[in-house]
Amino acid sequence: MEKKHPCIVMVPSPGLSHLIPLVEFAKMLVHDDDELNVRFIVPTLSSSSSSSMNSILNNSDLPPNITFTVLPQVNVEDLPVKSQTSTQIRFAVKHSLPLIHQQLTSFMSSTTHHIVALVFSIFATDVLDLAKEFNLLTYVFFASGASVLSFCLYLPYLDQTVFSTTNNTMSLTETVNFPGCVVPFQIKDLPDPVLYERSSEVYKSFLNVCRTHSLVDGAIVNTFTHLESEAIAAIQQQREANDRNTDKVPPFVYPIGPIIQSETSNEVNRLECLTWLDNQPPRSVLYICFGSGGTFSQEQLNEIAFGLEMSGHKFLWVVRAPNEYGGGAYLDEQKEDPLHHLPSGFVDRTKGEGLVVPSWAPQVEILGHGSTSAFLSHCGWNSILESVVHGVPMIAWPLFAEQRMNAVLLKEVLKVALMPEKVVDNDGDGIVKREEIARVIKRMMEENEEGLKIRKRIEHLSDAAAAALTQNGSSTKAFSTLKQKWKIV
Ligand code: UDP
Repeated sequence: MEKKHPCIVMVPSPGLSHLIPLVEFAKMLVHDDDELNVRFIVPTLSSSSSSSMNSILNNSDLPPNITFTVLPQVNVEDLPVKSQTSTQIRFAVKHSLPLIHQQLTSFMSSTTHHIVALVFSIFATDVLDLAKEFNLLTYVFFASGASVLSFCLYLPYLDQTVFSTTNNTMSLTETVNFPGCVVPFQIKDLPDPVLYERSSEVYKSFLNVCRTHSLVDGAIVNTFTHLESEAIAAIQQQREANDRNTDKVPPFVYPIGPIIQSETSNEVNRLECLTWLDNQPPRSVLYICFGSGGTFSQEQLNEIAFGLEMSGHKFLWVVRAPNEYGGGAYLDEQKEDPLHHLPSGFVDRTKGEGLVVPSWAPQVEILGHGSTSAFLSHCGWNSILESVVHGVPMIAWPLFAEQRMNAVLLKEVLKVALMPEKVVDNDGDGIVKREEIARVIKRMMEENEEGLKIRKRIEHLSDAAAAALTQNGSSTKAFSTLKQKWKIV
C-alpha cells in the first residue's frame, strides 16, 4: 500500500484576526512541500463580515494543498442580545461541532492522507474533545503574544487565589503579576472578560478557555524570542519544572513569528491609498487604523478628527461609523458610510494633508510604504507585528479584548509607543480630548529626543524580527521542530 501523506486540520474561530495569521502559517507549512496538506474547517457567524473573509479564502495565489470547507453560518440571533465578542465566537464554534465532526470523519477515510494534528484558534477550544476522539495531536494557534498566553495559563491560579479572596472587589488600579511579566499589570489592563464579575458567564467561559490551554500538545505563538523573551522563557521553565501528568502544566510553546501577510488580499481602497502615499514626502504620514473592527462613540470620533486637524500633520485614516462598543465592527459588517459621521467640512478642510477611507485599507502595504512615519493603532496583535516588521513606531490606543495588555507591553516594556491620556469621567469611562490627541501626534511626528529613541528601538526590533526568520533564527528553528514532529508521526 502506498504511504499516506500527512495532513493538518485547522479550525479558525470567526474573526479576521484569527483567520489571517492561520492562513499565513498554513502557507509556510506547505511551502516547497508537496506532501503536506492543510485542510481548513471554517465556522462562521451570521453577523460576521463575509467580504474580507472571502477575499482571503478565494485568493488565487494560495497553493493547491491548502483547502477550505466553509461551514454554514451559525445564527447569532439565537444568542442573548449584546453578547461579548468572545461569547459569540465560542457560540459559533460550539454550534458547528457536529459539522466539524462530520468533516473529520470524512478526512479520516482519505486513502491518500492521514490526519496528524488539529490546530485551532484561541476561542475554538471546544474542538479539543473531537481531536481526542480521533486521536489527533492538538495545538492552539495563539494569535496574540506570549505575555498574554502566560497570563491566560496563570488565570486559573489567580482565580483560586487573589480573585477568589477578593471576590472581584479589587480596584481597577491594583496590580497583578504573572510568570514572565516584566512590569505588573493593573486590573483595568487585563483582557475584557476578566473585568466581569467572577460569577458571570463571560468570565467563567474565558476561564474555561484558559484552562483548556494547558491540555494541548503545543501552543503555536505568533511572536519571537527577542520580542517577549521573559514570557516565553517563563512558560518553558514552568513546563520543565512540572510533571506533565497533571493538567496544570503549560503546553510546549513554539514561538514561530512574526507571521504577517506579505500583502493584503483585500483590494478595497488599495489603489487610492497607495497612489496617495506615493505622492507624499518620505516619512511624513501618520497611519490611523483600529484593526478589523475597532469603533468609537460619535463624540470620540469628532475629537480624533479635530485633534488631527490641530496637529497639522499628514494622515491616512481608516474611518468606521460610530458605535458605543470599542469592537463594534469586529463581527458586524457596517452598512452605512462612515465618512458621513465626520465633522462637517472636515474632509474638505484637510484635503491635501489627509486621506480618509471608509472601513478598510491595505494595512501591510501602508506600513511598508516609505511615506509612512508612525501608526496610531488599537494594538491588535497582528497590527503590532506588522508595525514591528516594518519598523514603524506606534501611538497606542487600545480598545477591547487583550489590547490594553499589548499596549502596556509596547509602552512600558518595549518602549516603542506613546499613549494619549484619557480624561476619565465618573463612570470610569473616558474620552481623549482633541488637544491631547494633537499633542501626542506632534510628540511622535516631530523631531525630538524621545521620538528618536523610540524610532531606534523599533528599528532594532524590526531587525530582530527579520533575524528570527532567517535560516538559523529562533522562529525558524521552532517552526522546523514542529513541522518535523508532524511529518514523522
Ligand atoms: N487590516 C487591514 N486593513 C484594515 C484593517 C485591518 O489589512 O483596514 C488587517 C491588519 O493588517 C491585521 C488585521 O486586519 O492583519 C487586524 O488584526 P489585529 O490583530 O491587528 O486586530 P483585530 O482585528 O483583531 O482587532
